[in-house]
Amino acid sequence: MKSKLVLVLFLLATPVFAADPAPTLVVPEGAQAGPNFDVEKATQAWVDTLSPEQRAKSNAYFEGGYVLDAVDFLYGLGVAALFLLTPLARRMRAATAKVVSGPFLTSAIFAAQYVFLVTLFQFPMSYYRGFQREHAYGMANNSFGSWLGDQAKELAIGLVIGSLFAGILYVVFRKAPRTWWMWGTVVSLVFAAFTAMIAPVYFAPMFNTYKSVPEGPTREKILSLARANGIPAHDVYWFDASKQTKRISANVSGLLGTTRVSLNDNLMNRSPEESIEAVLGHEMGHYVLNHVYKGLMETGVIILCGFAFTAFIFDRIVARSGAKLSISGIADPVGLPLLVAIVSVWFFLMTPVTNSLSRTEEAEADIFGINASRQPDGFAAVAMQLSEYRKIHPGYWEEIIFFDHPSGWNRAHRAMAWKKEHLN
Ligand SMILES: [Zn+2]
Repeated sequence: MKSKLVLVLFLLATPVFAADPAPTLVVPEGAQAGPNFDVEKATQAWVDTLSPEQRAKSNAYFEGGYVLDAVDFLYGLGVAALFLLTPLARRMRAATAKVVSGPFLTSAIFAAQYVFLVTLFQFPMSYYRGFQREHAYGMANNSFGSWLGDQAKELAIGLVIGSLFAGILYVVFRKAPRTWWMWGTVVSLVFAAFTAMIAPVYFAPMFNTYKSVPEGPTREKILSLARANGIPAHDVYWFDASKQTKRISANVSGLLGTTRVSLNDNLMNRSPEESIEAVLGHEMGHYVLNHVYKGLMETGVIILCGFAFTAFIFDRIVARSGAKLSISGIADPVGLPLLVAIVSVWFFLMTPVTNSLSRTEEAEADIFGINASRQPDGFAAVAMQLSEYRKIHPGYWEEIIFFDHPSGWNRAHRAMAWKKEHLN
């Protein structure tokens, strides 16, 4: 990569962080190094550090998510029906035609109205899942006003991105009504890459404050880990995720020159140094293994098949009921809710595939991170902490279908397998 990569580790400068000493790593007895070290027993020892109450709560939270995913999907289809089976979509088209003309502007303005109304219709679901339920499980720190403010910002971004994307897509529909699913995939990927590139620079700072980590041993350790793994990083940052949530997390975002690893302040405050190093190693793994680019290509294949599926179904529905629904063809904006509904069916069906693609890369990053940081216990410890919001030990198929990251049990098992091979 030609552009300078800035490894940006976002850490927060709040009094909370400064006041609390870093927690120390406690390795449970069954997972301590020794002549009788056993991978299975060590994994179980880590899992047993969670109380039955903690596990029950985590299972209930995560399994509830399966139901909510299905409800969200069906609710979305209901919203699409509301647009199509009432005069709503036709009125939006008529209102749009009064102010603008041409395929780009017509579809962009139509899409803006659509994004706004869908957000409004889905508000009860967003409120329950994003605010009420998070507080009920003790996972959130934000007030209703602050949550609502974030929702408004997301809507503003959705309006700009959504209408721009729809505008370009409908020009493609107009020029290539039979082969749009191929060109549409190219447009979607370029758009996804562009959005990914600008997101950490323009969108992320709208929600949180990012600051450089002050000089010190933590910063030096992070930069040293980066240098050792061929990552040209020269700055370290942190961000105040605790404004919204208690969740521990980190991620890789951006593209080309904007690529960065982000760490949240919950991780810095609530996890021992060894865990922070292991998590950083994991995020660096995503970078070194080119997961952002691989992910884009995998997404491209899923979108290509999904658009082909959508074109096939859309044309059949329009041939049969186009007059009744007042949709003249693919280039008619009134068909947008139908398009979105069919695409959502595709992605719902593809859930086990997209989750498995993601989970596989996460497992690769886990291995990389343990190797780079040489902190198997730190990694197992943070895997237990993540069980707050991810079921610790699911069934085999349950993990394949529903998990976009490996389960805590699998992560601890992987770490303990590494530890066994490095006991000396
Ligand atoms: Zn990851």
